Amino acid sequence: MPQALPTCRCGHDRHHHMVSAKGRYSTMGWFTLLIGVTARPRAVEYWCRRCGERFDSTADPDVLAKHC
Ligand SMILES: [Zn+2]
Repeated sequence: MPQALPTCRCGHDRHHHMVSAKGRYSTMGWFTLLIGVTARPRAVEYWCRRCGERFDSTADPDVLAKHC
């Protein structure tokens, strides 16, 4: 059974259109970005653009691949 996804205080989960995903990079990841190499984020964080709450994150490789 899939677990219920975390939601922000508005009740939005990571798939809501008001929720943005932002890659979180390691220090080495930032460095490779600076020199123009595409780095894969270490984790992806989800934050709500309505309330500004960061309520979820994932390190799922399949999800990270979509954000590189
Ligand atoms: Zn919200």
